[in-house]
Amino acid sequence: MKKKTYNKKERQYKRKVRLLRSLLCIIFILIVSFLLLKSTREKKTIILNVSEEMEMESSMNKQDYVNNDISWKKTLVNRWNPIPQNYPLQVVKVKGGERVDKRIYEPLMKMLNSAKAEGFDPRVVSGYRTEDEQKAMMNEKVAVFQQQGYSYNEAKNHAEKWVAIPGTSEHELGLSVDINGVSYGIYQWLQENSYKYGFIFRYPDNKKEITGVEEEVWHYRYVGIDAAKDIYEGNISLEEYLGELNSK
Ligand SMILES: [Zn+2]
Repeated sequence: MKKKTYNKKERQYKRKVRLLRSLLCIIFILIVSFLLLKSTREKKTIILNVSEEMEMESSMNKQDYVNNDISWKKTLVNRWNPIPQNYPLQVVKVKGGERVDKRIYEPLMKMLNSAKAEGFDPRVVSGYRTEDEQKAMMNEKVAVFQQQGYSYNEAKNHAEKWVAIPGTSEHELGLSVDINGVSYGIYQWLQENSYKYGFIFRYPDNKKEITGVEEEVWHYRYVGIDAAKDIYEGNISLEEYLGELNSK
């Protein structure tokens, strides 16, 4: 009899414990679900804010550019004219991994395909560069001259003849490409035909006083077909075309 009572009490106690456990479990699940839901919502808000901000920023940049009446195709960048602030840029990858401004992708492909059809094998070996990448290139070049025994200042002066000062390279615009080919004939072909696709031979030897750059047969710059034709037929540089002779 005594044992039975004990068992009954024990059963009741166990039931209470089970009930309490279940209750605690439910409360715990509720708390966890609430916290998870809250953090997901917060994350969503953050992501939304970031993308809204980015959208605002890029439309502001575009607006600045429109207000200043600068045609992106004819943006002049050289040692006297650094990249304009808020320059809007969207890059895409080309075969081989280099990047270019999205807007020149199509004309560039047309030009390269035409060259291929003529039996050449052109490759884009350098396209868009960030200012940091340009800085790294400059540092490397300075180091090479220093290793040859030049002082830092001498090395820097020499390097600046070959590598554009960061912030003043057309590669930072995304509108220029360096093209390599198996044969030297590709450069001849480009000099004669690139204007048909909107590109110019940007640094010819006879314009180095004006462009501030030694001859670079591999460097092509997109300016649009109309400007490229005028520059090609007039045998002038982009600086002359734009009436911006800043060199001394
Ligand atoms: Zn180049």
